[in-house]
Amino acid sequence: MTTPQFVLQPAPAISAEERSSLMKDLGFGAVFTENMVRIRYHVDKGWHDAALVPYAPIQMSPAASVLHYGQAIFEGFKAYRQKDGGICTFRPEANARRMQSSADRLAMPALPIELFVEASDILIRQDQAWVPPSVGESLYVRPLMIATEAALGVRPSKEYLFLMFASPAGPYFKRGVKPVSVWVSRDYVRAAQGGTGHTKCAGNYAASLVAQRQALDHGCDQVIWLDARQREYIEEMGGMNLFFVYQDGQRVRLVTPSLSGSLLPGVTRDSLLKLAVDLGYEASESTVSMGQFEADVAAGKMTEAFACGTAAVITPVGHVQSERGSFSINQGQTGPVAARLRDALLDIQHGYAPDVHHWVHRVV
Ligand SMILES: *Cc1c(COP(=O)(O)O)cnc(C)c1O
Repeated sequence: MTTPQFVLQPAPAISAEERSSLMKDLGFGAVFTENMVRIRYHVDKGWHDAALVPYAPIQMSPAASVLHYGQAIFEGFKAYRQKDGGICTFRPEANARRMQSSADRLAMPALPIELFVEASDILIRQDQAWVPPSVGESLYVRPLMIATEAALGVRPSKEYLFLMFASPAGPYFKRGVKPVSVWVSRDYVRAAQGGTGHTKCAGNYAASLVAQRQALDHGCDQVIWLDARQREYIEEMGGMNLFFVYQDGQRVRLVTPSLSGSLLPGVTRDSLLKLAVDLGYEASESTVSMGQFEADVAAGKMTEAFACGTAAVITPVGHVQSERGSFSINQGQTGPVAARLRDALLDIQHGYAPDVHHWVHRVV
């Protein structure tokens, strides 16, 4: 089957005035650019009907299989304004590959990596005026794929719709990097081995909301997820991966939970594992239990903990709370290692530091 050619049918651009008023107080994911990419799939035709079209509501049958059986996956990555005024995305092929892996787990078709990256380039070039100017700001790109066949039999859909749209994003946390408090969930689990935890499928997030509500009820910002079997090994925080920092004199060692099969393999996680080594830290993947977490903080060996992901980059963990008690890390303050890694990553993303790992993809 051939690769479809994109048809360009963009919306008329809104005025610069209207755009700048919409971009005035940027939050996250509330304002969308004028256009989106759409590509359809049918088992008999493959990927076809690729187009850049106005961002608009979509129509589908009430019998569309996504509405009943949940074949829905998504991705998230960002376009960054560069030091030289241009625009780059960060490791978009990694997101394309992960979307293929999510698709595979949900018996959905794989969108070719080149098509994913081309879709992103076309959309961002068209809506480039929406990429904000400052470091820490970005244009967040949201690809998704859903099953659209109108059929109530429980089996993989024969038709799918891929969409990619964009939303200008301010710094995820308005008042700078502020440590979060976390609730350790022992009532609920996010994912189990053999399940869908390693994919960005919509159902994972639906299943997480009640635990997030429980965290808020306990006065915490976020949930810490433990492994499904023993409820002891730390997996993730909300929709972000976790890192733990051990410091012994000059020696700094980072540990992140291993990809056990139920963790989401974050692009930020993978990048930080490499960037940490560039900065002279040691970095490894291992299991970390709740007992070890609390004991190592109490012993002063573990000096920081932070979460990482595309949306918020790095978020320090300040306080940990569970049914069994609570403790603080680094007096609830942002630590120097988290701050340094965050700056170093943003510098690469915005073109202020050399891109030694070839992570940056030039769009404009
Ligand atoms: C998206 C996501 C992450 C972070 O992945 P990045 O590629 O770094 O943005 C981590 N955990 C979960 C559950 C996620 O959905």
